[in-house]
Amino acid sequence: MLRRPVLIVCAVIAAAGPACASEAVTSAATLAGTTTIPATTTSPATTTSPATTILATTTIPATTTILATTTIPATTIPAPAPTTTAPDIESRVVGTSVEGRDITAVRRGEVGGRVVLVIGVIHGDENDGLAILDRLHSLPVPPGVDLWLVDQMNPDGVAADVRQNANQVDLNRNFPYDWGPIGVPGDSQYAGPSAASEPETQAMVALITEIRPDIIIWYHQDLYRIAPGKGRDGVIRERYAELTGLPVVSITGGTYTGVAATWARRTIEPGVSFIVELGPSVTNAEADTHAAAVLTIASEPI
Ligand SMILES: [Zn+2]
Repeated sequence: MLRRPVLIVCAVIAAAGPACASEAVTSAATLAGTTTIPATTTSPATTTSPATTILATTTIPATTTILATTTIPATTIPAPAPTTTAPDIESRVVGTSVEGRDITAVRRGEVGGRVVLVIGVIHGDENDGLAILDRLHSLPVPPGVDLWLVDQMNPDGVAADVRQNANQVDLNRNFPYDWGPIGVPGDSQYAGPSAASEPETQAMVALITEIRPDIIIWYHQDLYRIAPGKGRDGVIRERYAELTGLPVVSITGGTYTGVAATWARRTIEPGVSFIVELGPSVTNAEADTHAAAVLTIASEPI
């Protein structure tokens, strides 16, 4: 019966600041022991009873305190931070680089869901995608998504801060679709001695052939764009661009044989595979935006 006026008191206090809630918490235990007090107020006024004496003296102060404790815990105390980060399903070494570094894939989300693969680094000196992958390792994965994360498929290149692997091969010209010889060791786009000659390429070919992602994203720098695509592939690229603010602009001017994303697209059709060219650097806010975009397109029925 006394709850309604009490609620008003609490709301006023709460509006004044967080102290109300904290006080409510500390006095909750006291309340539990005093809940019988309001009931006595309904009894006839018997001035001679010791009980009424107690009530008379305690009613007003007690009600304000008690109300604060009874209403706040249920409605205004913030819920605990959600424990959204499920354990990784799997962490697997999918290959070893020329210099012996592990190439690792981490699987998160829901087994049996839509398989989405993200590769943070293929060119070793274009590694700001790692900031996006960092977030994807901890953000909650939407239901129905089977998320695979390969931070770096070129760990030797990352370690040396160079584009190529330790054999000086541009891994993004080494994949076994439309492969062609380009350059010699030392050239920035040296394609290697043959298609899929490099252990890093072989590791990714094996992984992608096995898990057959529905969507694959490859991060590069620093052209700041997404090339247009066709059909469903193009729709998903447009969506990613919309979510991140990247322009959809063709990438031209190079020799594009043995490209990883192209090999993958041909391999997983009707799955899609596309390159995201980040800018010269990625701010924390941009990394947040890109990670959210990955999870959005991963969960949207496109
Ligand atoms: Zn690149």
